[in-house]
Amino acid sequence: MGCDFLADELLLEGGHLVRIFAFLKFLLLEPLVIIAYMTREYVFDWSLDLQSSPEALWPFVADTNRFNHDTGLPAVTPVLKASELRPGMKRLKFSLFGLLVEWDEQPFEWVYPYRFQIRRWYRRGPFKEIRVRAEMTPKPEGGTHLQYKVWFAPAWPLIGDVAILWQVGFVSRFRFLSVFRKYDRLAQQGASQFDIPGTARFAAGGKQRLEASRAAIVADGDPILFERLTWLLEHADDLALQRLRPYQLADLWSLPRRTVLEAFLRAARAGVLDLRWELLCPSCRGTAESHATLGELHNRSHCPSCHIDFSVNFDRQVEAVFRPNPAVRVIPSMYQFCVSGPHSQPHNRMTVQLVEGEEVVVSLVLEEGRYSLNASGIRGELPIVVCKEGETSCTLALPADRWDEEEVRLAPRSVLHLKNGSGSPQFVRLERTAWRDDAATAADVTSLQVFRDLFSSEALRTGEEISIGSVTLLFTDLRNSTRLYLQIGDAPAFGRVRQHFALLEQAIAAEGGAIVKTIGDSVMAVFRQPVAALRAVKAAHQAISQLEGSPALSIKFGLHAGSCIVVTLNDRLDYFGSTVNIAARLPGLAEGGEIVFSREIRNDPEVQSWLQQNYPEPTWFQAQVKGYDQPFDLWRMWV
Ligand SMILES: [Zn+2]
Repeated sequence: MGCDFLADELLLEGGHLVRIFAFLKFLLLEPLVIIAYMTREYVFDWSLDLQSSPEALWPFVADTNRFNHDTGLPAVTPVLKASELRPGMKRLKFSLFGLLVEWDEQPFEWVYPYRFQIRRWYRRGPFKEIRVRAEMTPKPEGGTHLQYKVWFAPAWPLIGDVAILWQVGFVSRFRFLSVFRKYDRLAQQGASQFDIPGTARFAAGGKQRLEASRAAIVADGDPILFERLTWLLEHADDLALQRLRPYQLADLWSLPRRTVLEAFLRAARAGVLDLRWELLCPSCRGTAESHATLGELHNRSHCPSCHIDFSVNFDRQVEAVFRPNPAVRVIPSMYQFCVSGPHSQPHNRMTVQLVEGEEVVVSLVLEEGRYSLNASGIRGELPIVVCKEGETSCTLALPADRWDEEEVRLAPRSVLHLKNGSGSPQFVRLERTAWRDDAATAADVTSLQVFRDLFSSEALRTGEEISIGSVTLLFTDLRNSTRLYLQIGDAPAFGRVRQHFALLEQAIAAEGGAIVKTIGDSVMAVFRQPVAALRAVKAAHQAISQLEGSPALSIKFGLHAGSCIVVTLNDRLDYFGSTVNIAARLPGLAEGGEIVFSREIRNDPEVQSWLQQNYPEPTWFQAQVKGYDQPFDLWRMWV
């Protein structure tokens, strides 16, 4: 049994003495307080009606890192040497009024966009246990009824009780409710976390430094981007600036992602932003490591909260993030207030814990797409497709050993009945299977010419090999180059070769690719998307064929995509593997002014629609590639 009360009289106008007197009177005369004191549990139950929908409120209310920051809780520090903890559990600490408070917390449970809850057991400090549950219920007339409920068990007799009643019943209640109202206003305005004004401003001389870098950051791009960045660095609060993700900001600003990423790279070179490489855990997608240079990366990593080792992949696990350089704006370094709320796993739409035999009914709001349902103790996963034709209600029994059900189809708004008959407690998760595509990965960044030009010293440690799941490689070869040198002499010939390199580089950079290296008269270039490489080939061919001089230059192109490894060779990032070997041989199968490409390129959906508009009928042929037994299916066309 607990107590449930509202300490409204503590919000009376008046000085501290009046409040303290009212608080003491409340402590001594309120019967529910006495009952709670006897039962060692205090329950605070706060409700309010808000104008925004649960979906609009969720990004703010369920961002527990921001909520704890905005309500004035101190920053937390993870306790790393806690290997006896079960996977998913976290040990954290903070200092409250000079008092060390340390606790273990269960993984958060949540159902987007309606509720979340957390339970913490304390090892040090005035509390024994805290449970928090937030519930957002849509109201029939629009808006949300928000209920925020906190259970407290004090550890210290009397002092712990008084601390809870004062801090939670009075101070926190007032702050929490006003923060929820602020979030409601922000949600109504369609604002993001970057619109929450901070109190900190530029460092001394910071604005001048930023202004002096304007030309370097904007290059020949849109000046609006520089204004957005300036506004952000001047007005956003410290928390929002902790971790700037260029693609997320590009989407928010309605600007092309590559433009923003390139501007951020230039800003990092100009000393306005700092670039960091974060390693994302494939399971929880949290940050397992963070490094200032690529040279600090290893091809294996470990997630301390999932207790798993994983191999690092350039196009999945390594993300480039930015924060202001301290010369422009100083951001506190240890600055996290909650490490594992729903905000930290936006791909995860539901996480519920079920004890053996338990049944729960959850209402789901899901975007269309592919999901997977998995549980901590059950092998495999249950594929779920969310589509308009899906079921609006579905009953699922958790199996004892492994998932063997067929794919389940759900409607975007559906009700799921879950029964745990597996024989053991289960943590059940419903996750979007698509890897988050709003991360600027190391594969994206290192295939940009801007990065290769500005950060030419950024390389992996010697001997380190990191795999990359999919990359598009372009090789070019200048036709009849031997004859060219003989015909017009070495120096003029080399001048023309350099001219053609410059045009190739221009065309490649304009499509978001980068030159990895030149080998004799050949170029090896990298792209993230095959279609970008095709567009670059077309532009380069046109530019080179317009070059004056005789004989006319003619280029052979070869294009292939696949996985490979990234290493550092001769102080620069380079690519190795069979994808590279095959791609390198393709120009040899082409005529001058022709491109040869593989099935991997041909089957890409973007390439297919580009070909339809530009080159409807490339010619199919088969050819032997040195070192491979099977002939390859290839296509050729004039560019
Ligand atoms: Zn993890």
